[in-house]
Amino acid sequence: MSGKFHAIAIDGPSGAGKSTFARRVAEDMGYVYVDTGAIYRTVGYYIWICGIGGRDADGVRRLIDDVNVRIEYPGDGVQHMYLNGKDITGEIRTPEISMYASQVSAHKCVRDFLMDTQRDLARTHNVVMDGRDIGTVVLPDADVKIFLTASAEVRAKRRWLELQEKGVKDSYEKVLADMIQRDKQDSTREVAPLRQAEDAVLLDTSDMTLEQTFEAIKKIIGEKLGA
Ligand code: C5P
Repeated sequence: MSGKFHAIAIDGPSGAGKSTFARRVAEDMGYVYVDTGAIYRTVGYYIWICGIGGRDADGVRRLIDDVNVRIEYPGDGVQHMYLNGKDITGEIRTPEISMYASQVSAHKCVRDFLMDTQRDLARTHNVVMDGRDIGTVVLPDADVKIFLTASAEVRAKRRWLELQEKGVKDSYEKVLADMIQRDKQDSTREVAPLRQAEDAVLLDTSDMTLEQTFEAIKKIIGEKLGA
């Protein structure tokens, strides 16, 4: 980027491991990790508690101005999300809110509403930002762009194990079906669909271990930043 801060964009479908690696890379480099999915989840959560359907364009447009999103990094390694002053960091991690986030994120008014929040963070910090459209739309001049993916089955298995650990009892088949539906919603929407930026490096982690993936990401960053 032309400013004095560096930006590393990591995009890809759900369950590809973006947040795990983005967080680790950020820690390793002393950058701020920005989880943009959590920002969309916060809006999805608001629409959900208001009892409006995520696909209801008029309803979402009517409510979006009532949303105040605040992001804080209190130093516990977790990006805390505040919705209208209330910490809802834990509440947004359910399968239902995943689906809501995906639905509300397809509306242009929601994407426009969150654009400045994301760009402001990159203007004022060194960031590792993960999402779906960071390299293509939010930070097209990012210094490093990585498109992280894996087969739907591998991603669903990882997500299923994560949910089991949290005590969510959904079956693997349901997690896989949700994942395929979200992939479809995210990559076929008209506004800022999920796609690899032309200048992004593709990393398919289907057959890679965590350590191999982390090393591969560090190598890409080292080459791009000339570190
Ligand atoms: O990454 P995560 O699964 O938390 O994101 C939740 C949803 O938010 C995604 O399915 C996607 O629809 C949406 N999202 C987006 N653009 C981003 C980040 C997330 O549309 N930059």
